[in-house]
Amino acid sequence: MHARARSATADCPHCGSRPDRVHGRYMRRLADSSVGGARVVIELLVRRFKCLNPVCPAVTFAEQIAGLTIPPARYTPLVCEQLASIALAPAGRAGARLARILGLRVAKDTLLRMVRSIPEEPAGQIRVLGVDDFALRKGDSYATILVDLERRCPVDVLPGRDAEPLAAWLKHHPAVEIICRDRAGAYAEGARRGFPQAVQVTDAWHLWHNLGEARTASSVEAGRA
Ligand SMILES: [Zn+2]
Repeated sequence: MHARARSATADCPHCGSRPDRVHGRYMRRLADSSVGGARVVIELLVRRFKCLNPVCPAVTFAEQIAGLTIPPARYTPLVCEQLASIALAPAGRAGARLARILGLRVAKDTLLRMVRSIPEEPAGQIRVLGVDDFALRKGDSYATILVDLERRCPVDVLPGRDAEPLAAWLKHHPAVEIICRDRAGAYAEGARRGFPQAVQVTDAWHLWHNLGEARTASSVEAGRA
């Protein structure tokens, strides 16, 4: 869309005067909300005015159109709002709220179903594997997450946090060279049973955590002595 302001003057942002002497023009491109699924770009012909107030620090200034331009942004205020909502909204309930903002009515369960129906990329060959447990229900049931640490993406979830499922998984993934795990004995045992050739290392978080615990313990000992 092509647009230009019809008013003869514009407010100087520095002194508030309304000069009418046009100094020059330039084209500004603004992305606006889509129409019928088509991308909309507003090509706005912006005038640069000469401020005639002798005490004003501005020599010239570009006009701003209320509701359409925000000085440095390449988006209209409407798109800025929509993008902020998208940045904040994941799937489910929040996604449904976002869709409503975009003029689309959709239930959260439909959105979750859509996310689940996206085909998963095959994991491929994993060389460096991260293993850690996480709580499904805090303090009640746990699972094990496997992460391809080179591609930084989760590749599988195993039931529980015992050695056997990990050992079975490793037998089917012989490309693993390094296993990064916490200090729990179960994963060490699973890695040893499943793939003894792999190098086992402790992940950085658990290393610092253990160091912190050891330091606290030794200061308590020193205090007692
Ligand atoms: Zn001015």
